[in-house]
Amino acid sequence: MDSLISTLRTALGDDSVLTGERLAERARSFWDPRPLEGRALLLPRDTAAVSAALRLCHEARQPVIPLGGGTNIANATASGENDVLISLERMRGIGPVDLAQQTVTVEAGAPLETVQEHAAAAGLKVPVDLGARGSCTIGGMIACNAGGNQVLRYGMTRDMVLGLEAVLADGTVLNGLTPYLKNNTGYDLKQWFVGSEGTLGIVTRAVLHLYPAPRSRHTALLAVDDFAAIAPLLLRLRARLGGLLTSFEGMWQSFYELNSGEHATALPIFDAAPPWSVLLEIEGQDAEADGALFEQTLAEVWEAGGLADAVIAGSEADRLAMWAIREGCEAETKLYARTDQFDISLAMDAMLPCTEAIRSALTELALDSDLHVFGHLGDGNLHLVVGHRRGEIDSAHVKQLVYQRVAEWRGSVSAEHGIGLDKKAYLPLSRSTAEIQAMRAIKQALDPHGILNPGKIFDL
Ligand SMILES: Cc1cc2nc3c(=O)[nH]c(=O)nc-3n(C[C@H](O)[C@H](O)[C@H](O)COP(=O)(O)OP(=O)(O)OC[C@H]3O[C@@H](n4cnc5c(N)ncnc54)[C@H](O)[C@@H]3O)c2cc1C
Repeated sequence: MDSLISTLRTALGDDSVLTGERLAERARSFWDPRPLEGRALLLPRDTAAVSAALRLCHEARQPVIPLGGGTNIANATASGENDVLISLERMRGIGPVDLAQQTVTVEAGAPLETVQEHAAAAGLKVPVDLGARGSCTIGGMIACNAGGNQVLRYGMTRDMVLGLEAVLADGTVLNGLTPYLKNNTGYDLKQWFVGSEGTLGIVTRAVLHLYPAPRSRHTALLAVDDFAAIAPLLLRLRARLGGLLTSFEGMWQSFYELNSGEHATALPIFDAAPPWSVLLEIEGQDAEADGALFEQTLAEVWEAGGLADAVIAGSEADRLAMWAIREGCEAETKLYARTDQFDISLAMDAMLPCTEAIRSALTELALDSDLHVFGHLGDGNLHLVVGHRRGEIDSAHVKQLVYQRVAEWRGSVSAEHGIGLDKKAYLPLSRSTAEIQAMRAIKQALDPHGILNPGKIFDL
């Protein structure tokens, strides 16, 4: 009998420790249906149980992989047969919404969508939203510092976390569940855990900052012929629309064509695919006044020049039709044998030369692969899809080609998806040796035996 597993059973209760077939009947992740691998899967019911489990694993030098909804896009929850996995799926509690503070305290296993519904019932909104809302958890979002479509206005997950409770590798509980916007009492420890991908501690609870739920929403799709017009356009929109501007999403021509063409479910909005399309959205509290401001602003933008076409969504169906092109992904699965996906940050003036350099390099290699570019243009975050008609193309080769150009243009190899295992080799392209050394020092201080999610982000 495995003595650590039997000690964990005694500490947590038999039904909180799954092994063998009960572990293997679960999928590895949202993306990978193969049977989960591990020595045991722990399902703690509260922070004390997480603490007890980590203390025992720390003493036994047992590697531990924290699990949320398994929706991350960086292979950040990969496990092997000797790992212990800890899922917070039984820790989904959500406290009452504090209207005076505009906060809610939640357990880390709560799915985003459930927290969104809870906030909406109190007239408030969770500022970060993702396509994975039904499956991803607050703990996983915090560990990934997830972004989404409204970062331009509300910031990333990092910005909505006011307070945090986390358990360190040795079982120490750090309770920082404060609801304050301002708290200059030494190091901001909660931020160490945001974006740490489960390598510094297990997040068990968090205080989230909520915002008034919008009562109005206005959307438009703009066509742009000259990329140089996009930065002044964004500046003008920010100046005129102020805090209402929520999304400024971009699509390069081939992406627009792919997602409104014969392999897509969405239909085209423009007669011909423009070189660039910008999906613009505002949210506010006064439908009439916001609508008038939106139309007036678009008229001014039109007058100023730089737009080739503009369509304002006249209904929710129109709005969804616009977002369907931006969020579509079925066409790429039909057209290509395989894709490589990238999530990069670039300065606005580097976007065009860098993506063109990547396109040229791919063309020179004659791989018979296509590059499609889209993303959160207003945040400087582009998503790249390299679609391969031939399945045997070497992914490592394509990654090196893309990340090398991103580094040459001083971009980031991960804007919002994180490093995990997938981008570990490319971390030095975006972070200096001194920065990676500082990260290692923090890891060693908080997790001296290196048991938490070992091998993710960097090697020790
Ligand atoms: C359809 C879809 C759309 C997406 N859209 C976006 C998007 O727009 N923007 C964006 O940024 N991301 C997006 N993502 C990826 C996004 O990062 C994840 O969906 C989400 O943040 C991960 O949450 P999760 O609960 O699934 O965590 P998991 O995938 O389970 O885990 C992610 C990481 O967090 C760690 N972890 C999990 N829980 C904890 C915890 N309690 N304490 C400490 N560590 C923990 C894990 O070890 C792992 O390193 C999308 C994913 C999908 C499937």
